[in-house]
Amino acid sequence: MSNETIQRPEWVPAEAGAEFTTQVMPGVTGGHDGLTSTSATPSVISPRRRQLSVTDYVEGVLNNDRMILGRAITLIESNAPAHMETAQAVLKELLPHTGKSIRVGITGVPGVGKSTFIEALGCHLIEQGHRLAVLAVDPTSTLTRGSILGDKTRMERLTRETQAFIRPSPSGGTLGGVTRKSRETILLCEAAGFDVILVETVGVGQSETTVRSMVDFFLLLMLTGAGDELQGIKKGIMELADALLINKADGDNLTRAKVARGEYTRAVHYLAPATQGWRTQVHTCSAVTGDGIAKIWSVIEDFRQKMTASGTLEARRHAQAIEWVYAMIEEHLRTSFYHHPAVVAALPAMKEAVINGSLPATLAATELLAKFERERF
Ligand code: GDP
Repeated sequence: MSNETIQRPEWVPAEAGAEFTTQVMPGVTGGHDGLTSTSATPSVISPRRRQLSVTDYVEGVLNNDRMILGRAITLIESNAPAHMETAQAVLKELLPHTGKSIRVGITGVPGVGKSTFIEALGCHLIEQGHRLAVLAVDPTSTLTRGSILGDKTRMERLTRETQAFIRPSPSGGTLGGVTRKSRETILLCEAAGFDVILVETVGVGQSETTVRSMVDFFLLLMLTGAGDELQGIKKGIMELADALLINKADGDNLTRAKVARGEYTRAVHYLAPATQGWRTQVHTCSAVTGDGIAKIWSVIEDFRQKMTASGTLEARRHAQAIEWVYAMIEEHLRTSFYHHPAVVAALPAMKEAVINGSLPATLAATELLAKFERERF
């Protein structure tokens, strides 16, 4: 489904939600359909604003002008070629001002308490004088209209905080699209002076690996009382995490949480660590009572300090940047291949021939690639 087909509710102007952190709208209202909508829908909130220049965007973001930051994110989320060009010019200017935050990924099955936890941690961080941006990566949001961070009743306290900025998942259409937009949004938020970036994701498909590839520290929230299989937690995901955090360690569940902590501590001992030189830790917390929230933040700070000193963090960020370039090239090539008219025309018959055994798979691939190469220019 293309972004262009998504309709904005009539009362929402093109960039609403961007400038009002209290108005966290469903994922699609980030204005992914572009800045210069020609829709005749009258805006009841504000008149159409003037176009901003690259300098306007750059200065606005650097001055932490919320409205301009929101518009800059909308710009980078746009799929329109003209917007992408301006967005890249803005990013290029801002790049020297990025990279100073700690980027933390947070995952766990629905219901584990991610948003309650982010609210508790966020409020703790603000009390400590931090400025916090909360982003979401939800590759399903194109279909579900943003299942995470899309509901403004979640993180109610945090949305009222002036030191917090909350942005729902972009609806990029593809995981690659969502990834690009989220990575670039991290950079914009850093340039705007947010020193902690939390990236929430849901445990679906590739989203954990994707978020792992854009953060420094990755936190897996877990529950007690349900087997790992019930929680949908695979060993592979535990291996991505720098810490496991057993949430809902309160009331009747406290003892069980402590037992689970011991079990998981033994289990992670046999797993490859997600970060070289750092042993994956297991802790408990209650996002409701706040117990364990300060502790997990001190673990993240300890990680940052040690991994910075050893050079591991810098090496990770360098590797992530290069990986990102390759991933975008692959995404582009894949899209151009499958949308190429000659490939589109030949593919059904080729598939049929491979299925009925009249064409070897390798030959089918070679012929399709040859069509793509020959008729490309
Ligand atoms: P998410 O889907 O992972 O974002 O989970 P939510 O944050 O929406 O929480 C799901 C439910 O678990 C809500 O009813 C929360 O109130 C509850 N919950 C979250 N954290 C805790 C906790 O630490 N203790 C208890 N007892 N309940 C919690």
